[in-house]
Order: sequence, then structure tokens, then C-alpha cells
Amino acid sequence: RAKEEGKNQYRFYESSLSRDAKQSMDIKNSLRRAIERDEFAVHYQPQIEARSGKIIGLEALIRWYHPKQGFIPPGSFIPIAEETGLIVPIGERVLQMVCAQSRAWRQAGLPPIRIAVNLSARQFSQKDLVQSIKRILDDNGLDPHDIELEITENMAMKDEMQESLQEMKDMGFTISIDDFGTQYSSLGYLKRLPIHKIKIDRSFVNGISKDPKDEAIIMAMLLIANRLHLTVIAEGVETNEQLAFLQDNDCEEIQGYIFHKPQPAENIAALLAEQAAKIFG
Ligand code: C2E
Ligand code: MG
Ligand code: MG
Ligand code: MG
Repeated sequence: RAKEEGKNQYRFYESSLSRDAKQSMDIKNSLRRAIERDEFAVHYQPQIEARSGKIIGLEALIRWYHPKQGFIPPGSFIPIAEETGLIVPIGERVLQMVCAQSRAWRQAGLPPIRIAVNLSARQFSQKDLVQSIKRILDDNGLDPHDIELEITENMAMKDEMQESLQEMKDMGFTISIDDFGTQYSSLGYLKRLPIHKIKIDRSFVNGISKDPKDEAIIMAMLLIANRLHLTVIAEGVETNEQLAFLQDNDCEEIQGYIFHKPQPAENIAALLAEQAAKIFG
């Protein structure tokens, strides 16, 4: 019997494996088409200054609307885009959309706001990454100070990234470490690298008022960032308890559903206009 069950389990495993493989093949093929047919959009999530409640930045998050399957979340296709190298043209497209949007907002008279863009490791293997980013900015009359580049710890640690990172910093880009505290990396890179900002991962924020260990880790992150003169933003803030804890511990910036979900550009324009009217009206 046990043997029989074992066999069934194996079969189940095998078929679910091949289903995953097939799904990833499907995504691979439709990703290629999606690039040609331009099926991507960008949504923007506001970043709030804790002290003032003001929107002081936005994170650009890719959205893919498949003509048949509808919305496909980034978690389901970004890893495949990275594996296949398709993240290079996709990443360029995202930056183009972000820069064009930023220019349009400016032309509409909205005050300039910094927009953070996620970069994948694979994009750094593109030799002219920095030049290609600069070209897209120039095409839209933007300056590196208008853009923040988000990388992960694993990327920050890699020797072959150092030159590009330094170049990006020297040009005036803000560089932040996304999902801080979740990867296998030493803290030493914080001392060596041209980083401005760390983003405390949602998994720690989620433990506030539930798990004292998460609270301890967040306090330690805030302390170390403060001493190193790095800005800190907490991601995935959803509850008043989480917000209060972060404010009490002097976390400067907040990003999360408690303020705003990622939204299409039109909604963001309305929020920015409302804020500008409050300040200058
Ligand atoms: P990320 O860069 O850490 O982005 C934050 C994610 O947390 C976003 O998920 C956002 O919608 C979500 N989030 C924000 N606030 C809350 C909250 O209060 N509660 C909860 N439950 N979630 C919240 P999203 O948009 O699904 O993106 C997932 C990941 O996909 C991103 O994580 C990023 O790693 C990747 N990604 C998204 N857009 C791009 C892109 O243009 N290029 C690259 N390379 N990666 C991207
Ligand atoms: Mg991010
Ligand atoms: Mg990320
Ligand atoms: Mg993150």
C-alpha cells in the first residue's frame, strides 16, 4: 500500500512538474509576442514621507495584460523573462514608458517627482546598460536625478556590477537596495557600495505587532542605515500598527496599501495635482 501511494505521489509530482514546464514554455512564447505587440503597461505606487504624509516618490511596476489570459502578475513572468534574456528589451520598454510619463506630467504642469525603476541582474550583462538608460532619459529631456534604480542585494554583491553601479551613482541616479534583508549577503557591501537607500522587505513589516523578532530586525536595520546615512523606506505597510511602529522608530519613508496601491498613471496624476493644490493653493 505504502508502495502504491508512493508511486501515485511520484506520478502526481511528475505531472505537476511537466505542467509547470509547459506553462513556462507558454509564457516564454507569449512574452516574445507581448514585446512585439506592446502588451505591457506601468503602474505607479506612491512613496510617502512619514513626517509630512507627502508623496515624495513613485515606484514603477510593470503590468502585463495578455489578450486572452488577462492580467499576469510580474511574479509569474519576470523570472522567465530573466532566464530567457527577454528582460533586456522589457526593461528598456519599462524605462521608456516611465520617462515618457514623467515628461508628460511635467508638460501638464505637475511638480517633478522621482520615479523608482526595478532592474534585474540580467540587465547588467548588457554591456551598454548605462548608456542605454542615459539615452532613454535624454530622449525625454530627463536627468538622472529624476530616476531611482532598484537593485537587490545579490546584485549589489557581484564584482562585475561595481563599475556600472559607480557609473550610475556618478551620473546622479539614486540607487536603492530592494527587498533588503531577504538574500544571502553580507552587510559589508553597505560600506563599499554607492547606495543611497534601503527598502525594508514586506516580510519583516508583516511581522510588526505579531513577531518581536521581525520588530528587532527592523529596529536594527533602521539603526544601521541611520549610522551609514542611508535613507530607509518600508515596503508593504498595510496596517495602522505597522505604520505607528515604523514612525516611532524614525523610518523616513513608507510604501504600502495603507496609503496607496499601485495605480495607472491617470490616478497618480490626480493625486499629484491634488497635493500640489494643497501646497500652493
Ligand atoms: P518589488 O520591487 O519588491 O515591488 C513591490 C511589490 O509589493 C509590488 O508587487 C507591489 O504591488 C507590492 N506591494 C506594495 N505594497 C504592498 C502592500 O501593502 N501589501 C502587499 N501585499 N503588497 C504590496 P508587484 O507589482 O506584483 O511586483 C512584484 C515584483 O516584480 C516586484 O517586487 C519586482 O521585483 C518585480 N517587478 C515589477 N516590475 C518590474 C520591472 O519593471 N522590472 C523588473 N525587473 N522587475 C519588476
Ligand atoms: Mg522594487
Ligand atoms: Mg524587486
Ligand atoms: Mg521589494
